Amino acid sequence: MSSIHDRLGVERVINAHGTVTVLGGSVMAPAVLAAMAGASQGFVDVALLHHRAAAHIADVLGVEAACITSGASAGLTVATAALLARGRPEVLASLPTVPVLDAGPVADRVVVLASHRMAYDRAILVAGAQLAEVGPDRFAEVVAGPGVAIAFYAAHAADLPGSLSLQEFAATAHRHGVPVLVDAAAELPPETNVHRFLAEGADLVVFSGGKEIGGPQSSGLVLGSATMTEWCRTLVTPYDGVTRGMKIDKETIAGLMTAVELWWSRDHAAVARSRQEAVDTVVSALGSMPGVTAWTGHPSTPGVQPVGIPRAYLRHEHRTADDLRDALRAGRPAIAVGVEDDRIAVNPQCLQPGDLEPLVAGLVAAFSR
Ligand SMILES: *Cc1c(COP(=O)(O)O)cnc(C)c1O
Repeated sequence: MSSIHDRLGVERVINAHGTVTVLGGSVMAPAVLAAMAGASQGFVDVALLHHRAAAHIADVLGVEAACITSGASAGLTVATAALLARGRPEVLASLPTVPVLDAGPVADRVVVLASHRMAYDRAILVAGAQLAEVGPDRFAEVVAGPGVAIAFYAAHAADLPGSLSLQEFAATAHRHGVPVLVDAAAELPPETNVHRFLAEGADLVVFSGGKEIGGPQSSGLVLGSATMTEWCRTLVTPYDGVTRGMKIDKETIAGLMTAVELWWSRDHAAVARSRQEAVDTVVSALGSMPGVTAWTGHPSTPGVQPVGIPRAYLRHEHRTADDLRDALRAGRPAIAVGVEDDRIAVNPQCLQPGDLEPLVAGLVAAFSR
């Protein structure tokens, strides 16, 4: 426990909710912190550092190219600005106002399926684009129309009614020369998703560095096309225009690069097994309690990510899920859990060594009241 947390009297929470920013997103490994501390000890050409670190990350992950950003949300804004401007300095300089050039109108519309609208798509508007919201029936028509810069697809919504597969979506967009940007911020695990969305037709895909990867909380990756990630890189290291608030620093670059190396080379199957064991332990401890139903499963509520991690689901016949969640959070130690529909969702993703025992004890205490 950090002495700063203690000094300020801000108590630690057992995180059985997930990589949510309100609880701190992720915990960095000692090697990641050491890389950040080392990087802060001297001055360097930050653009060159970013260029080389991004090339190294692309090599490690086996993708064409990368840009490091200050989070996935920043990545969406940076990628949007990059794709509106497409390397034209006069467009970049006037964003978030999209200029009218003598050479013709600059594209300013980002096509999004209505079923994929979500809180984070505000990040697109920040760059100066408009969202053109369509249903699958009108998608081809709107993508073919004037002024379209980017087609945007939230991967987490792939199975929703009113959606299209990424392959279909990208094929249509590419027929009209429109690039495809995918928000996959919380789509890890499985680690194969690093390649999946690009293989399915995304030109750029955005991941959070501060979730499953375990990098600095305010870090992210834009992966994909060499030309487009190069446009993105010039907008963050640093740039004084629309993306100034999204600059990255040498510590974040060093920390994310190290986190990617550790995460990519870890034993993913062993991590998955220990997560399964954790939810099995919770279910066997609570399943025999009177009035409690307990089972393991994967999220099916749209927007709850990542679906690849199993959850322990708990329901009490006389208590609402919201009431139980609040009781757990007010307990000692404080425990944070998710609620999906009418059930408590215990996510093992962020449990730290030693957390499982007090987590189970806290759950048993809350559910027996
Ligand atoms: C978490 C998340 C984001 C924001 O990611 P940051 O790295 O915190 O900026 C954006 N989109 C989706 C779908 C997310 O889950």
